[in-house]
Amino acid sequence: MNCLFCEISQSRQDAKIIYEDEHCLAIQPGHTLVIPKEHVTDIHQLETST
Ligand SMILES: [Zn+2]
Repeated sequence: MNCLFCEISQSRQDAKIIYEDEHCLAIQPGHTLVIPKEHVTDIHQLETST
């Protein structure tokens, strides 16, 4: 899979990570972008955690 965001979440691509937990990352610079660690094509495919 060639996905920049997956590469960032797997530390294979440099990014300034300003927040991280078991589910998501927040990256900069410029605008802050929050991304899920799980690769999905639609946010509604993410499991809701309890
Ligand atoms: Zn991905």
